[in-house]
Amino acid sequence: MSYQALYRVWRPRTFEDVVGQSHITRTLQNAIVQEKFSHAYLFSGPRGTGKTSAAKIFAKTINCEHAPVKEPCNECSACRGIQDGSISDVIEIDAASNTSVDDIREIRDKVKYASSSVPYKVYIIDEVHMISINAFNALLKTLEEPPKHVIFILATTEPHKIPLTIISRCQRFDFKPISNQAIVERMKTIVGAENVSVSPEAFETVALAAEGGMRDALSILDQAISYSEDQVGLEDVLAVTGGVSQAILTEIVGAMYEKDVEHALKLLDDLIQRGKDPGRFVYDLIYFMRDLLLFKSAPSLEGLLERARADESFLALAESVSTEWIQDAIMQLNQCQQEIKWTNSPKVFIEISILTITNRYHTQEPSPADSGAIDSEAVTRLSNKMAKLEKELTMLKQQPAATGQAQAVPAEKRRQQPARTSKNGYKIPFERIRDVLGQAEKPALKQVQSQWANFLSKLKTANAPAHATIQDSKPAAASADTLVVAFKYEIHCSLFLDNRETVESVLGSVMDRSLTIIPIPDKDWTELRTEYISKQEKPKDEKEEADPVVEEARKLFGDEFLEIHD
Ligand SMILES: [Zn+2]
Repeated sequence: MSYQALYRVWRPRTFEDVVGQSHITRTLQNAIVQEKFSHAYLFSGPRGTGKTSAAKIFAKTINCEHAPVKEPCNECSACRGIQDGSISDVIEIDAASNTSVDDIREIRDKVKYASSSVPYKVYIIDEVHMISINAFNALLKTLEEPPKHVIFILATTEPHKIPLTIISRCQRFDFKPISNQAIVERMKTIVGAENVSVSPEAFETVALAAEGGMRDALSILDQAISYSEDQVGLEDVLAVTGGVSQAILTEIVGAMYEKDVEHALKLLDDLIQRGKDPGRFVYDLIYFMRDLLLFKSAPSLEGLLERARADESFLALAESVSTEWIQDAIMQLNQCQQEIKWTNSPKVFIEISILTITNRYHTQEPSPADSGAIDSEAVTRLSNKMAKLEKELTMLKQQPAATGQAQAVPAEKRRQQPARTSKNGYKIPFERIRDVLGQAEKPALKQVQSQWANFLSKLKTANAPAHATIQDSKPAAASADTLVVAFKYEIHCSLFLDNRETVESVLGSVMDRSLTIIPIPDKDWTELRTEYISKQEKPKDEKEEADPVVEEARKLFGDEFLEIHD
């Protein structure tokens, strides 16, 4: 027995089977039962949403020997004849291949003859937007004065291409993209009957890839069944669609957000090694991000997700990433998508995008990478030695942070934001740091600074991972019991907190007194320090107050940071 495609075998035969369009089928059924149906319909909507199926079911239902009925019996000779196409009164025309005026004139001429074997002649014109203007005009004449026994059902994916004069003569129904859930339900019914085993993830992924079209869903499912060994799993579906699994997309986005460039690049490399199409990957990533953004903005609209399933790790990711970051990343990826169209080495551009997204997130300031500062030489190096470029970018990134930040933001504005949660979840305790500054003394800081190298080397021996979190930082301010430490990399602040006990205990033993460490990213420290100094300078008009305050600042930072104006 020859194999029949699932979507053919399982073409809906009753209105009940038309999935996800009950707003249409119910209206049609009521009209049919009350025998008040129109003589011309326009079914519009995306491909594979059931337009022509509904049209054929309509034709059967009005012509069924048991009419008026809500559903065709699919048993009587009228139903069967229409189903197998042997009854010539129901005519299906594909306008994509029969678009000439003559074709339509032929319809017009034949329309006037009564139907031969069933009560109604039904013309189903698919892709009706494809016919020419002249053909439309010919059709219009027919639609204006249709014989009572003739029904026209025009179907189209592009209703905007149909003249208004035609549309105005039809009763219009807009078929919606079928929800993923409805597609999954229908597929479950089908594979149940076909005795095939399909994993839940595979179902979901087929539905996502089908983009609301049942025909596409069944066609993908068909291919996945042929491809699979035994049970249809997620990998089979991804292999057939060329898609990237959500687990990997989640991991890559997570890695970029966590600034784990290395991991993100490794995942990309793995995908490409396994033969994934780079363009498809970017496409999938954009849609995944889009869904993430949508979900963050309106979690109740879960049903609108196009590519993603709201599984546990998706929810966790949505929880942690910020809206601005996603928007930024989508823009970056869009740009990447344009760029890779014109290159033989798309991977390099994707790698740069990953770096840029990761990098931009570090500073939330325009970084050199954003302005396209990477030249082709760097691009070549990049593909060979990713790690090296990563370092370069990190260094480049430091420049705007060190120079611009403090001056760019007015002190007033900064003070209105006492605490800021970094995107890694580290909340900088600005008030506590200001308290420390209030009690800080330069000698206390000098003392720590003099022992810092010693402390780092002891820490390295004692606990290398803990050392790694603090090695790029420097003591910024100290009071008797607290030390503010400026961290070069924001991410190290939160990493440090995980190792706080170890670090503080080694520092305590080196300093001979216990010190609580408060981490602060370097740029925030620069900003805070500038703010603090400018605050201290303010009361200088009142002479008697000015001196002790300037003295206080001097004690803290030393003369090199102070400019005292009269
Ligand atoms: Zn029937």
